[in-house]
Amino acid sequence: MVNKKILVGGLVVIILILAVALIKSNKKIGPAEVDPAIPDGAGQNGSLIKDGPAIPDGGNEIKNKIKKEEVQEKIIISLPYAPSQPTSSIVPMGETIFHPKPQNPEGHPGIDFQWNLGKPIDIIACINGEIISAMKTPSHNKWDVTIETGNYAIAYHELETIDSKIIQGGKVSLGQRIGEPGKFNGNHYNMHWELRLGTERICPLNYFTPDAKARIEKGWADTNWPELKRNAPDICSGDYKDKND
Ligand SMILES: [Zn+2]
Repeated sequence: MVNKKILVGGLVVIILILAVALIKSNKKIGPAEVDPAIPDGAGQNGSLIKDGPAIPDGGNEIKNKIKKEEVQEKIIISLPYAPSQPTSSIVPMGETIFHPKPQNPEGHPGIDFQWNLGKPIDIIACINGEIISAMKTPSHNKWDVTIETGNYAIAYHELETIDSKIIQGGKVSLGQRIGEPGKFNGNHYNMHWELRLGTERICPLNYFTPDAKARIEKGWADTNWPELKRNAPDICSGDYKDKND
């Protein structure tokens, strides 16, 4: 009887080991990893005048190849600027006026937050993360900061200045000041901002806290730019509509 119990127990252990091995091997089976070339995160100049050639945004530096099925829980992000400093206008994702196809396959690959010149604007970290790049990009002479949180990355681009603690390899905490938005053509402040999952830019709207989402939607509602709204009626328009996970 004792031997039988040992035998049965041994079989159970073997079955468990096989089951675990099977689950692990299944996890490795999936669609081939895709590493598409990232189109330029061309920043626009924050004016009502069409801007010039596309500006590279350093997006190609991100080579996160983690597969979607292994992605962690969805992140929750706060407003990337001080709530007391509402935007004066927003340039939505997917617009094709300043980012025409085919040079920009998906149109504008992020959201531009813009403010009238005047009192200083604070760009702040909308979630804890690690700074994977913080550099001045020569082509537009502005600072581009990218901060990673798990498999997500957030780009705060085209900043005029960044704080001394914002250095590659450093960490930021939710609410920490990153810097101030870029001045373009002397009539607007502008920050080009993106949420990425791996290498893919996604619509961030459903990642914001309800308060942040409401403030950004109000910023879009208050944007008085008929030509832009005809081209891209929503904050995530065109190819970015519903592209949020
Ligand atoms: Zn932009």
